[in-house]
Amino acid sequence: MKIIVIGTNHAGTTAVRTIKRLNPNAEVTTYDKNDVISFLGCGIALWVSGEVKDPNGLFYANPQTLEEEGIHVKMKHEWVGIDAKKKTVRIKDLNTGKEFDDNYDKLIIGVGSWPIIPPIPGIDLDGVQICKNYDHAKIIHQANSNPDIKSVAVVGAGYIGVELVDAFVTKGKNVTLIDVAERIMPNYYDPEFTSVVEDKMKKSGVKMALGEKVVEFKAGPNGKVASVITDKGEIKTDYVIFSVGVRPQTKILDGVVDLSPIGAIKTNEFMQTTNPDIYAIGDCAEVHNIALDQQMPVQLATTAVRTGILAAVNAVTNNTMKTPGFTGANGIDVFGFKMASLGFTSASAKRMGVDTEEILFTDNDLPEFMSSTQPVTLKVVWDKKTRKIVGAQVGSEANHTETMYMFALGIQKGLTIDELPLIDIFFLPHFNKPYNFITLAGLEVLGLNYFKKNGSKK
Ligand SMILES: Cc1cc2nc3c(=O)[nH]c(=O)nc-3n(C[C@H](O)[C@H](O)[C@H](O)COP(=O)(O)OP(=O)(O)OC[C@H]3O[C@@H](n4cnc5c(N)ncnc54)[C@H](O)[C@@H]3O)c2cc1C
Repeated sequence: MKIIVIGTNHAGTTAVRTIKRLNPNAEVTTYDKNDVISFLGCGIALWVSGEVKDPNGLFYANPQTLEEEGIHVKMKHEWVGIDAKKKTVRIKDLNTGKEFDDNYDKLIIGVGSWPIIPPIPGIDLDGVQICKNYDHAKIIHQANSNPDIKSVAVVGAGYIGVELVDAFVTKGKNVTLIDVAERIMPNYYDPEFTSVVEDKMKKSGVKMALGEKVVEFKAGPNGKVASVITDKGEIKTDYVIFSVGVRPQTKILDGVVDLSPIGAIKTNEFMQTTNPDIYAIGDCAEVHNIALDQQMPVQLATTAVRTGILAAVNAVTNNTMKTPGFTGANGIDVFGFKMASLGFTSASAKRMGVDTEEILFTDNDLPEFMSSTQPVTLKVVWDKKTRKIVGAQVGSEANHTETMYMFALGIQKGLTIDELPLIDIFFLPHFNKPYNFITLAGLEVLGLNYFKKNGSKK
């Protein structure tokens, strides 16, 4: 059996390795137009802030290690076409410029995503930088060390933008955060969580330009970006990070397999596209969002890895492993506040036509006799009709993000809000309370809160 995997980053790397372990005799070739694989984008902000000293640590695989595992790795090879009837892909060798065809029995597409670059005047100016791969990381790291760059404007208050704001502040830059939305990370967290981070940002000197739409980037006398023009005014800056989201890279497949309106490849429970010999994985594919039972892309490294496993197993075994669904579980640690969330906020569920209820619960995480006790806030969102949990958010200066692992499993297994207080959570004063904040939140919903905490509401 010959399997070709296009794209060798998180999704593709996982897929090729899984195939070889399941079937050492399979002929596996992977093509990637880049020259590195497995780059951890989360490390860009950490490299800028100085936490990561050596960027080589941001890779967990390289072409040589994959070759040693028996995988043919063709870097600097771009996939430029497909003949799905003949089962061949057209590849361009970027070193020589020559094109050739390669045939497959099964094809796995893991071409990922690329930052959205709208046609804003001046967006191509020197000093307006997107943030996705290792090449961008090197440019941003260099700009951060440049003493002439004193102020940075970050456009896009999603998790990438917010992490970079934190990193630039750590390095003493004057930072402005610009977003058309009224608050940061609105797709992941509700205001009870984002307002905590926004307050911390303001205290750290970050200028917040929220609710402002960028209409132009203007150059200074040196030709480099010197200001960002928004619908509310002008923001002077020496450098711009532009990070307003990503889109799948799937034009080649238009008319070959079904795509969503934004170009995400439609898949079934086996990560198989509408062509049974073609699977799709990672950022470029739709997955089953189990929280609301809908198909959509969930563009995270964790989804990329798991879809890579699913497609590889199913390509080799002829569809034996069904997806358990995804929840979009994510975490962030900025300005000393640690948050994690998954599934849906009530607002996002409403946008998708699901009527939800929620509980917001704040308590101390440990017994008050412990010296390291910290407040922790939890929100749980459930479907009003089925009472199944469809989302959760947690935030604290202490790390309670791992509680979201349990909520991910709960959502995957259809846990209801009424079952939440009966989960057998252990107790040790070093870690939690006998009635911990998760149990208490569930008890409150059942009308059984024995402690009547302030700040809790239904
Ligand atoms: C700054 C940043 C921080 C992030 N932090 C986190 C985090 O903390 N946690 C988390 O879970 N996720 C995080 N993510 C998201 C995560 O990086 C992506 O979800 C993940 O990279 C998706 O992996 P992928 O393999 O599907 O796609 P990609 O990483 O986009 O890789 C696609 C690969 O396909 C190749 N390719 C594309 N087109 C072609 C073609 N035509 N021919 C050949 N090769 C092609 C590309 O060169 C690339 O190597 C972050 C992303 C960024 C940018």
